[in-house]
Amino acid sequence: MAEQFPYKMVNPDFFSMGPDGPMVVGAKCRSCDRVYFPKKTICVDCWERGNMDVVPLSRKGKLSLFTIATMSLLGLDTPYACGYVDLPEGVRLFGLLTDSEPFDEKLRLDMEVEIVIEKMMTNDFGEEIYAYKFKPCNEAES
Ligand SMILES: [Zn+2]
Repeated sequence: MAEQFPYKMVNPDFFSMGPDGPMVVGAKCRSCDRVYFPKKTICVDCWERGNMDVVPLSRKGKLSLFTIATMSLLGLDTPYACGYVDLPEGVRLFGLLTDSEPFDEKLRLDMEVEIVIEKMMTNDFGEEIYAYKFKPCNEAES
């Protein structure tokens, strides 16, 4: 049965409902503990099939690569930042950055970011679509 969310998610397969709302989930192999995102049914390390548990992913990770987009392909307001975040489980997520302007002051490679669920866009049917985004963690001013 499809899981119900309080709002329309960009891809329901990326999320599960937690106590505080939707949270990002992956799949963890019961044989070798490897974690996947997006979820998989076959482990490419040990070739076990259908031997996965759905697990919540860490809420914090490290920004390993990012770019600033000045042209929008999805109808997003520009400019926006997007990038890759590595989680402690060994998975890499791609997504939008939020609360990250001015970009040249707030964003740095290898900085810690927090995963938040936020509105991404309004689609052609007027529906608000939600996604996970990466929010820079507060750090002491240097
Ligand atoms: Zn495995």
